[in-house]
Amino acid sequence: INQSHIRNFSIIAHIDHGKSTLADRLIEVTGALSERQMKKQVLDSMELEQERGITIKAQTATLNYKAKDGEIYQLNLIDTPGHVDFTYEVSRSLQACEGALLIVDAAQGVEAQTLANVYLAMENDLEIIPVINKIDLPSADIEEAKRQIEDVIGLDASFAIPVSAKTGQGIEDVLEAIVEHVPPPQNLDEKPLRALVVDSWFDSYVGAVALIRVFEGTIKKGDRFRLMSMPTAASYEVQDLGYFVPAPFSTPHLDSGAVGFLIGGIKKLADLKVGDTVTTLKNGATEPLPGYREPKPMVFSGLYPVDSADYNELRDSLEKLHMNDPAFTFEPENSSALGLGFRCGFLGMLHMEIVQERLEREYDLDLITTAPSVIYRIYKTDGTMIEISNPSEFPDPAGIDRIEEPTVLANIFMPEEFVGAMMKLCQERRGMQQDMKFIGQGRVMLTYRLPLAEMVIDFYDKLKSVSRGYASMDYELADFSPDDVVKLDVLVHAEPVDALSLIVHRSIAESRGRDLVKKLRELIPRQQFDVPLQAAIGGRILARETVKAVRKNVTAKCYGGDITRKRKLLEKQKAGKKRMKSIGSVEVPQEAFLAVLKLG
Ligand code: GDP
Ligand code: MG
Repeated sequence: INQSHIRNFSIIAHIDHGKSTLADRLIEVTGALSERQMKKQVLDSMELEQERGITIKAQTATLNYKAKDGEIYQLNLIDTPGHVDFTYEVSRSLQACEGALLIVDAAQGVEAQTLANVYLAMENDLEIIPVINKIDLPSADIEEAKRQIEDVIGLDASFAIPVSAKTGQGIEDVLEAIVEHVPPPQNLDEKPLRALVVDSWFDSYVGAVALIRVFEGTIKKGDRFRLMSMPTAASYEVQDLGYFVPAPFSTPHLDSGAVGFLIGGIKKLADLKVGDTVTTLKNGATEPLPGYREPKPMVFSGLYPVDSADYNELRDSLEKLHMNDPAFTFEPENSSALGLGFRCGFLGMLHMEIVQERLEREYDLDLITTAPSVIYRIYKTDGTMIEISNPSEFPDPAGIDRIEEPTVLANIFMPEEFVGAMMKLCQERRGMQQDMKFIGQGRVMLTYRLPLAEMVIDFYDKLKSVSRGYASMDYELADFSPDDVVKLDVLVHAEPVDALSLIVHRSIAESRGRDLVKKLRELIPRQQFDVPLQAAIGGRILARETVKAVRKNVTAKCYGGDITRKRKLLEKQKAGKKRMKSIGSVEVPQEAFLAVLKLG
C-alpha cells in the first residue's frame, strides 16, 4: 500500500473516558472483526487489565477503511498503556504515530491524565484531534468540554468531534477526520532500515515478538537484522512479519510508514527492548532513532516466601515473570528477620502492585512484602556516592555528607470544595505548591512538587479519600533534591528487625516512629510473654509500646465438649498463621511489614 494511504494514530484519554470502547467501535465499524469474533473489549486482553480497567500492554490493530473519497486507507491504531508508571512506553507508542485522538468525557471534562497524555503527544509533534465522548449522557456538556480543551490544554477545539462510543454516533466522523487531518508517513523506502520497537512481549511458541513502526527503509522475510542498543554483533533472521487485524496476518515485507509485528527467533525479551531501533545487518543504519532509554526502576520492595522452603519456587516464578516484563528487576537479598528473599525494582507503585498480584495469582505463592522504598543518593564525606534502595544498606551517619531523594511534579484535578483538604495532604507529605488554576465548573488544578518517597506510601488512597473519590492525579518524575533523611529502626523484643526499618525525613521521624509502633502493637498478636516494640534512630529510642502476654488459651472457652467447634477454631488459628514469620520467638504477621502503609 502506498504511504499516502496510511495513517498511524493513537488514542489518548484519561482513564474511563472511553478509550477502549472507542477502539472497539472503530474496529467493529471498519469490519476488522465479525461481531461474533468480537469479544467485549478486544483491546484489553489481560485478565488483570479488565479488572483494573487499564491497559497495561500496548496493542494495535490495522483497520482498512473505505473513506468518503472512495479510496481505501490503512489506519493503524496503536494502543497506549493508560497509567503514569508507563509514561516511557506511552511516549514510545506516540512516537510511532503521526496523529492522536484526544478523548474527553463530555460529562467529566479535562482530567489529570488528559493533560499528561496531551503533553506527551505534543512532545512527539502529533496532530491532535479532539473527540468529545459520551454525548449520549444526559449530563454531557459538549461546549464546556470544548472550553476546557481550549483553556486548560490550549488546543483549538473548534473542530472537536462529538461522539458516543457507546451508541456509535459520530464514529464515521472520527474515521474521516483521521484520514483528513493525520498526516501520512513519508515514503523513505530507499533509506537504510530504521524501525522503532513500539512494544514487545513474550510468546511461548515463537519467543519474543516486537510491534514495530518502520520509519525508513523496508524489512522483509529472511533479512538478517540487529537491535542497535545491543553492544554485541548478535543478529537475527526475520522469520515472520505482518499486521494485526487484530489477529496476526503475515505479509512478505513491511515498508516505511508501516506498523506491524516482527518475529525473529529472539529468545530473551530483555534483548528486544521498547524504544530500541531495528536495522538490517548489511547496509544498516548508523544512528538509532532518538528517544531510547533503559527502563529504570524507581520503587523497590523486598519479596520473601512465607515458607522458606518456597524460595526456589519464588526465584523460578520471578524469572518467568521477568521474561514477560523486563522492566521489573530482582536480585537475591538476605534479611536477618525474613531469611532469603529478593529485592525487586518497579517502575512505580502500580507496576509493583501488578507484579505482586501476578505472583500470588498466577504462581500461587504466599509472599511477605516489605514497605516500598525509593532510591536515595548518598554522598559520603570521602567524596564517593552510593545509590541505595533498601534501608538496611543505609551507611553510618557519621560518614554521610548529604543525601538526595527523587521528587515528582504532580497535577491534581478536583472540585473546589476539596482544595483545602488537598493542600493540607500535600503539605503533610512535604509538598511544595507550584501552581493553582481554576478550570471551570467549580474545578481546580493544583500543581505540587512532592518527594516520591511520600507518594509511595498510600498517597493515592489518601488523595481519593480526602476528595471523596473526585480527585484525579498524574505525575512525572522531576529530579533528585537534597533532603535531611534518617534511618528509623524498629526493634521487636529488643531485636532490630531489618525488614521493618524505614528511611524517613528527620522532621517526621519521631511522629512516624510513634505511629508505627502503635500500629504494630495492634497487628502483632499476643504471645506467651510481653513483647516490647521500639522505634529508634541510631541508638536513641523515640517510642515504645508493649504487646501484652496472653492470659488464656482460646480453646479453653469451648469446655472441651464441642469437638467440631474446637477443631474449627484451631483451623482458623492455623489459617491466620499462614502469613506469619517468626522473628526470634515472636510471630509477626505479613500486615506488620506493611504497617507503615496503614498509618493514620
Ligand atoms: P477507558 O478507561 O478510557 O478505556 O474507558 P472505557 O472504554 O473502558 O470506558 C469506561 C466506561 O465508560 C465504560 O463503562 C464504558 O461502557 C463507558 N462508556 C464509554 N463510552 C461511552 C459513551 O459514549 N457513552 C456512555 N454512556 N458510556 C460510555
Ligand atoms: Mg481501557
